[in-house]
Amino acid sequence: MVVVMKERVSDSEVEAVIAHLVEMGMDVHRSTGASRIVLGVVGGGTVDPRLIELMAGVHEVLRITQPYKLASRTFKPDDTIITIGDVRIGGDEVIVIAGPCSAESEAQVHATAAAVKRAGAKILRGGAFKPRSSPYSFQGLGEEGLQLLRGGANAHDLKLVTEVMDASQIEVIGKYTDIYQVGARNMQNFTLLRELGHTRKPILLKRGIAATMEEWLLSAEYILSGGNTDVILCERGIRTFETFTRNTLDLSAIPIVKELSHLPIFVDPSHGMGRRDKVAPMARAAVAAGADGLIIEVHNDPDHALSDGAQSMFPSQFDRLMAELRIIAPAIGRSICLEPVARRGWAR
Ligand code: PEP
Ligand code: MN
Repeated sequence: MVVVMKERVSDSEVEAVIAHLVEMGMDVHRSTGASRIVLGVVGGGTVDPRLIELMAGVHEVLRITQPYKLASRTFKPDDTIITIGDVRIGGDEVIVIAGPCSAESEAQVHATAAAVKRAGAKILRGGAFKPRSSPYSFQGLGEEGLQLLRGGANAHDLKLVTEVMDASQIEVIGKYTDIYQVGARNMQNFTLLRELGHTRKPILLKRGIAATMEEWLLSAEYILSGGNTDVILCERGIRTFETFTRNTLDLSAIPIVKELSHLPIFVDPSHGMGRRDKVAPMARAAVAAGADGLIIEVHNDPDHALSDGAQSMFPSQFDRLMAELRIIAPAIGRSICLEPVARRGWAR
């Protein structure tokens, strides 16, 4: 932090600012320029810049380091790579997570898991505990849903990610999942984040619907500071004045987060757009912009889905998207599941 004093500042005002900063545990380096005194402030204490700005003789306070530390590239310059069995997240390979919004039945989970595996997904997604805007909407199958999802993932050699909504669910979900998802609505559920910091499974942390990138990285910091280093950030759209799409998918988060943080960043174009016909273009753009992976809703029969059917892709659409990503990823020096398990015709 740099404190710039006013031009006509008295010695006692400067001394008062320095004394306050020292009291807060900071080291202060004073430099006297031609017209102003500038204080360079470093150290382990925490200081609210606004409190300093209110002190007599202070012109402005400039923050030069980020409030998050463990999540920052300054702390860890090299990309974080998360390994789950043979799946490496955050490396050269673009990893695709796909599956239904919610687990609904054994047949649905198995049909969808088989389809996304064939197309090249590495991880199955699906919710068993659903954060629905309305209490009257389908809330998920709970533990039965977890069993279906684990069964589907195992049968098709996929890893599994599923959402945890509350700290009380961590234990039961942990029996089934490979990755915990923290949904957009829970990005600032600090009790949940702290508890997840004590687990040793990766966390997919979605960006809150009204969260700045700094707030999002501070939420990651909660998990990291608990000792869990495996956090995957996921941009899923933010709330803006635009109403045509469900959210506004902020792809600018990709290069910005890549600069600020070492953590892998995924993109969820399904919740970002809210319509299946707009998912593929944004998925392509996300990979082109450097996303480490995608999470996409796919359903074997999306028109009859119990949640988010309109934004869930048909398996044939997902197949085609994966084929397109196989062209885009190498163009920017990334790999992506090059060997589709079975080539099928593309439906338009
Ligand atoms: C989901 O992934 O189904 C979900 C509810 O996501 P989000 O938290 O991004 O809305
Ligand atoms: Mn959904």
